[in-house]
Amino acid sequence: MDLMEYQGKDLFRHYGVPTAPQGAIATTAEEAERLAADFGVPVMVKAQVLAGGRGKAGGVKYCPDPQTAGARARDILGLDIKGHPVEKVLVEPASDIAEEYYLSVLYDRVSKGYKVIASVEGGVEIEEVNAATPEKVIKRDIDPTVGLDRATAAEIIDAAGFPPAARDQTIDLLVTLAEGFVAADATLFEINPLILTEQGTVIALDSKVSIDGNALFRHEELAAQQETGGGEPLEVEAKRKGLQYVKLDGNIGVMGNGAGLVMSTLDVVSEVGGRPANFLDAGGGASAESMAVGIEFVLSDPDVDVMLINIFGGITRCDDVARAVLDALAQLGDPRQTIVVRLDGTNAEKGRAMLEQAGNPKVRAGAGMIEAAQTAAAQVA
Ligand code: GDP
Ligand code: MG
Repeated sequence: MDLMEYQGKDLFRHYGVPTAPQGAIATTAEEAERLAADFGVPVMVKAQVLAGGRGKAGGVKYCPDPQTAGARARDILGLDIKGHPVEKVLVEPASDIAEEYYLSVLYDRVSKGYKVIASVEGGVEIEEVNAATPEKVIKRDIDPTVGLDRATAAEIIDAAGFPPAARDQTIDLLVTLAEGFVAADATLFEINPLILTEQGTVIALDSKVSIDGNALFRHEELAAQQETGGGEPLEVEAKRKGLQYVKLDGNIGVMGNGAGLVMSTLDVVSEVGGRPANFLDAGGGASAESMAVGIEFVLSDPDVDVMLINIFGGITRCDDVARAVLDALAQLGDPRQTIVVRLDGTNAEKGRAMLEQAGNPKVRAGAGMIEAAQTAAAQVA
């Protein structure tokens, strides 16, 4: 889950990371003008969208008086930044920038820990700095069982060449940032730019924060901030139902037990010339009830013209799956789609026999994954 800049900054403040003066959100030009007058000028008006490079896209403006803030807010609220229409702007007292740096903590799948990245070349895209002058971008793996101590933070900041005026403050800020990163179950805490102000303090002027979606149950306040309206409606609905679901753009609905098996099924469907409509993992030890919920959910998608259920029975017994398929069909009345069911593993023969005995012309049972995918693809060819 990604946070908008203002939400990320609020989170930084919550964890004690020195951050730009608190601003407020406006959704209209009038509101922005009023906020600018209340805060006292100059202010920054900044597009709040889940996309980087807002400055370059004209979404970040310095405003010396309230009228300008209103006018710039009007311009920015009309922008579309990389496919994200701007619906909110952050109005924030402007900071006086002496220098711009870069600092981030991120989850790193390669080292299975986290990583700190620091550079005195901030305010520009760090990827570009890294490509042109990799020696100016310091990257350090942190052992997650130890955490980031002050000595290591100091080594990183010194290796990056932070000047004396910013050094000590940045070290403290980095330690606090890393603690917050762990506490928030974040996958990214990025500050670009981190600035040294003309007054000599180091603060976060921008924020890019991602929280591990699987940890949101531990962070109700953050989960509640999730911007609605974004995202595929079926995925939003699936999340509410607790389904592991991803919408795709084809017409063959796919469900299986186990994420690896479902991904392989998507590959096989494509291989035989079909186009999957979704990914749905019913889970390793899926029950008959959860199967039925999944089947109903996939069949409710108007894009789905045929459904392929791919089960390798282990803990899940194929006769239970067969019963779930028949129950779901009975509950749904007479769905327009054919369901192709591939059953293999525990009690597979029993399950296939049950499906055949039911004699429903809308249900096809199969033993092989490729053959089942071919049957499904042939239905919509
Ligand atoms: P991004 O382009 O989406 O990364 O948005 P940022 O929040 O990083 O803003 C882009 C640039 O605008 C920064 O690198 C700064 O140069 C400038 N900027 C942002 N806030 C302020 C501010 O308070 N004062 C000044 N003078 N410039 C700012
Ligand atoms: Mg930035």
